[in-house]
Amino acid sequence: MAEEVTCNFFKLSFGEWKGLRYDIKTLAFLTEEEVAPGVLAHLVKYTSSPEQHTSRASRIDFYRICLQDDNIIDALQRDRRIELTPLALYVITHELVHIIRFSKFQQRFDLEPRERTWEETIVHNIATEILKPMNMPALQSVLSAYDPLTARSSSALDDRYLYAHDSF
Ligand SMILES: [Zn+2]
Repeated sequence: MAEEVTCNFFKLSFGEWKGLRYDIKTLAFLTEEEVAPGVLAHLVKYTSSPEQHTSRASRIDFYRICLQDDNIIDALQRDRRIELTPLALYVITHELVHIIRFSKFQQRFDLEPRERTWEETIVHNIATEILKPMNMPALQSVLSAYDPLTARSSSALDDRYLYAHDSF
């Protein structure tokens, strides 16, 4: 569902969508490096090694959305207004927006902390635009709870809701 609405929003052709290399994995299937404490999802970028591909054009990037199920369940328990389906929908849509922006070179993967804060706001706003037309009332609580501009540090929600964007 997240894939469909995101694809439509960016008006990606079927070929462009297929060109995005990514997968989504849950905690049980993650390697040690892919597990990130304190965040809901960890986006990991894999790039084929230079020995395999000499020119930049033939370099292959692959993204993995690593869902940290334990932290997602914690977030649900902390705030009863948050439901699993809209939260999962938001998290996956948010990560897909990151991937599309990185893939289209609208944003670099290795951002400075200040640029990253700004990027999080942009990505949140795009994800909100994408999800707003969906007829799911419980989504509104998720969208406002995870708005980086209004999320209070003292809120019942984890203010360390940060996506780590690691590359190796
Ligand atoms: Zn993010």
